[in-house]
Amino acid sequence: MEENVPAGRCVVAVDGPSGSGKSTVSRRLAVSLGARYLDTGAMYRALTWAVLRSGVELSDTESVAKVAGEAELRIGTDPQGYAVTVDGTDVSTDIRGAGVTAAVSAVSAVAAVRELLVARQRRVIADAGRIVVEGRDIGSVVAPDADLKVFLTASAAARARRRSAEDAADVTATAADLARRDRLDSTRAVNPLQQAPDAVELDTTELGIDEVVDRLRQLLTERGVA
Ligand code: C5P
Repeated sequence: MEENVPAGRCVVAVDGPSGSGKSTVSRRLAVSLGARYLDTGAMYRALTWAVLRSGVELSDTESVAKVAGEAELRIGTDPQGYAVTVDGTDVSTDIRGAGVTAAVSAVSAVAAVRELLVARQRRVIADAGRIVVEGRDIGSVVAPDADLKVFLTASAAARARRRSAEDAADVTATAADLARRDRLDSTRAVNPLQQAPDAVELDTTELGIDEVVDRLRQLLTERGVA
């Protein structure tokens, strides 16, 4: 815990598809609130890295669950920069690579993997007290009692444009990959990507980061939370 972190519980759940602006918005919001930040996508990516390293087939869900259960995953919660390690190896960069990105939706669809990570995420939230958590099922499953639930969206074109700029990749290929991942993440049986009924939906297509963060700060103030 940092010394200057203000007291007062404040849990913000930020969900939405890839490229909707979740990471940038969540990190900036956490900094402005003096809160911790949890990137749950990075946790699924890290276990996917462990599964790929082990060489087990993605379709062998029992073995996938076993590898995931045995991996020692650590993730920081500093919004200004955090490391992700698996069994002591820093995988912060590798988990953003094409191999992990192609496999992560399959690994995150395994019920035992979700059970493990949801429990872990709830512990991190309880310990932090004041935290912005981003993912796909935070408002609906991980933190249904969050003080504010946000569901970020953006047009498919804007999402592909943002992601391809981040990854220096081709826009058309990125758009196809995002569509594939969104389909898998939204249609899986366990904890699919979904908007909680009480989430505030914000379309970020035409909004700058600061505008989105200001809007969320305003919502928190209106609720008397922060
Ligand atoms: O957010 P990011 O794109 O890094 O997430 C990678 C993948 O992790 C998603 O496509 C999804 O399959 C999975 N995920 C999930 N539940 C979360 C966060 C991420 O299933 N809460």
